[in-house]
Amino acid sequence: MIQLSLLVEDCRKENELNMEELIERAAGDLISSKYAIALTGAGMSTESGISDFRGPSGIWTKNPEAESKAYQTYEKFLADPRGYWQERLRAPSILGDLGEVKPNHGHYALAELERMGILKGIITQNIDDLHCKAGTQNILEYHGNAFKVRCTNCSSRLYADEYDLEGLEREGELPLCRNCGGLLKSDVVHFGEPIPLDVAHRSQEEAWTCDVMLICGTSAVVYPFAALPRIAREHRVERERKADIGLYMVEKVSASTIVEINAEPTPLTYENTSDYLIQGKTGEVLPKIVEKVKEVSR
Ligand code: NAD
Repeated sequence: MIQLSLLVEDCRKENELNMEELIERAAGDLISSKYAIALTGAGMSTESGISDFRGPSGIWTKNPEAESKAYQTYEKFLADPRGYWQERLRAPSILGDLGEVKPNHGHYALAELERMGILKGIITQNIDDLHCKAGTQNILEYHGNAFKVRCTNCSSRLYADEYDLEGLEREGELPLCRNCGGLLKSDVVHFGEPIPLDVAHRSQEEAWTCDVMLICGTSAVVYPFAALPRIAREHRVERERKADIGLYMVEKVSASTIVEINAEPTPLTYENTSDYLIQGKTGEVLPKIVEKVKEVSR
């Protein structure tokens, strides 16, 4: 019994040591980067009290029916926009009341890395507005924002509270864009709905440009978002291939490094798209990385 508990203690210490080394490695990679970006997913916000979808206590892990319903939302909008707006305004969101939710230490840590000039921006799958609330300036909201509406014609986006959506719905009117008169939908990108072109193009460019990519709290199974780390990875392979034949030697020095911070391994871990995984909570790991960056750059 005593021997077993000593063994468990040894493992715990080894993990902690490993974690410390990895945090130091991530801080070093960030400090020497020229263009670091972060990709974030639902795991980033679980410590703020918003459930993820596919983690062990995720909404869809516990309730697979909610997942199949979510697949019908976009078709509903196309077939019956009035019914779509009625449902959206009357039924509670499956993510709960997002208005009450506050950013956590992980969101603040990423905002701080941006203020330090290290992180150039975030591409998030989250629709909860928490990166913005934490102070990050440069955000691409790949799956939209639950607090905004988007015009289906000119793609302009506005916070929904600038429209009287409930009033319009009571009068049987559809919400229309102030710029062009196009039909508005929620900015949230539903299953089956194309990613808005402006965001899709800019995200792809960021994945091509970055030399460090931090991937935080995502299972990396929802496409096309999940292609972004693979794009960054392929870019690196391409840079290295060119370096082997004597071209782009300077590029090889700054080849992209892909770091995952996640509670569990993901397909990116198993297929070696990421260089290393820091297994833990983003709200704990990211602040430690920021501290280490400060310590090393002092
Ligand atoms: P996901 O649910 O598929 O995966 C979340 C991942 O994060 C899992 O691997 C889980 O183990 C990990 N995780 C959970 N808590 C963590 C923590 N504290 N620290 C580190 N890792 C943690 O999420 P996804 O990959 O983002 O895909 C889900 C889709 O659903 C996205 O497209 C997103 O738009 C949407 N979504 C958004 C929110 C939100 O806005 N907060 C919440 C749920 C779902």
